[in-house]
Amino acid sequence: MFIDGEWKEAENNAKFDVFNPATGEVLAQVPDGSDKDISLAIEAADRAFSSWSSLTAYQRSHYLYTAWKIMLDKKEDLARIMTQEQGKPLAAARNEVQYGADFLLWFAEEAKRVYGQTIPSARPDQRFIVLKQPVGVVGAITPWNYPVSMITRKLAPALAAGCTVVLKPAEATPLCAMEMFKIFEQAQLPPGVVNLVTTLDPKPVGAQFVSNPIIRKLTFTGSTRVGKMLAQEAAANMKRISLELGGHAPFIVYDDADPVHAAKGAVLVKFLNTGQACISPNRIFVPRHMVDAFTKEFTLRVNAMKPGNGMDKDVRIGPLVGPDAVSKVENQVKDALEKGAHLITGGKRLTDGPLEKGYFYAPTVLTHVTKEMLIYREETFGPVAAIIAYDPEDDVIEMANDTVYGLAAYVYTKSTTRAMTAFERLKFGIIGINDINPTSAAAPFGGMKDSGMGREGSKEGINEYLETKLGGFSI
Ligand code: ADP
Repeated sequence: MFIDGEWKEAENNAKFDVFNPATGEVLAQVPDGSDKDISLAIEAADRAFSSWSSLTAYQRSHYLYTAWKIMLDKKEDLARIMTQEQGKPLAAARNEVQYGADFLLWFAEEAKRVYGQTIPSARPDQRFIVLKQPVGVVGAITPWNYPVSMITRKLAPALAAGCTVVLKPAEATPLCAMEMFKIFEQAQLPPGVVNLVTTLDPKPVGAQFVSNPIIRKLTFTGSTRVGKMLAQEAAANMKRISLELGGHAPFIVYDDADPVHAAKGAVLVKFLNTGQACISPNRIFVPRHMVDAFTKEFTLRVNAMKPGNGMDKDVRIGPLVGPDAVSKVENQVKDALEKGAHLITGGKRLTDGPLEKGYFYAPTVLTHVTKEMLIYREETFGPVAAIIAYDPEDDVIEMANDTVYGLAAYVYTKSTTRAMTAFERLKFGIIGINDINPTSAAAPFGGMKDSGMGREGSKEGINEYLETKLGGFSI
């Protein structure tokens, strides 16, 4: 763990294993922090806050630029560790490192653009000035599916704003977090500005983050279930929160779209990270008369994706994160088939040869998916594409909006009218119009409804870490 500028073991010396999901091998043992370690990290962040927040924005920006440069130098090492620990193919891991580094650069720049305001007063002897100030010590909890970029997406704006941070990464991917903290150490961030607590049991960390009076803000990316629980507890202590939770993205193909082009885009985004992304399409809506053409092209492309260990050059689809993820996918596919879905390809675990020890599930295509099926409502977080036929009389946007989630949605059409109508009517925070990658450090990322609150990245991202303070001056 990295606490107060030093690497250390857990106070009670406990450790836990980190596995390679492609091989089942133990990669390393890392400290299993407990309450005492968490308290030490929070106290270190508290001590560092006053001097870190008093630096000029230019000074803080300089640290972030330095970290950005080191991160790019270490791109290949980081990507390799990520592939081993998390499973995604090496090319995808490199993309993620780049995306992660983008946040350091973006917020190095945004640090210098934290503007206040002056406001005219109705009283001639009065002046109003608004200051933006850092909220204080931040508790950050990150997931395993994007184990590097989710760290910089939170820490870069927090540090730029002048906050200090305690991070708890997911128990499946502490090694990526440790690599990121080596970068922060090399960038010579002052002791206590960033602190890392690794632990197998996340509950005590969550409990401290929502109750310890030093923590002023909780930023969480993970499941809706845990996010809601933390939000409830944080509310009792009036902590600021931002939450990036689950999703159930619709992917709407209109009848004027080219089914081949749409299928190409749908495969790319559906199987990204083996479907383990909160912006992964979970319901693919296709006009009934186009389903065959779409499914044919889609399946051709799915069958061309080689599953396996992400370190192998040709592999396009890695393992799932663990046994529970495989069971969840199996259960959704079984349920769908029992209720009348058609299995076009996949539909089983992959256990041949070297895949036997890993958590592999075949990329799967289902058609005839209907709203009675679990997959129509529950987030899959796996490599299963659910194709739903719709008719001209159906309001497909209403069908798409019929979910508790509101993170990402995708639309394929050649009509600007349809594109604009869909963009305006879809109740999701991120809409891709003929575009399967509507994300960037410069663009606001976040969801509505059960997908969470707050935005990360963009100029909005730093606001999550700032308080507004009004000064009224009588002169
Ligand atoms: P997933 O199902 O994607 O693993 P989780 O919400 O369980 O999603 O995990 C996301 C992050 O939340 C991880 O870092 C995990 O350790 C953490 N987490 C899980 N349960 C809790 C909890 N009760 N309190 C705080 N953090 C938690």
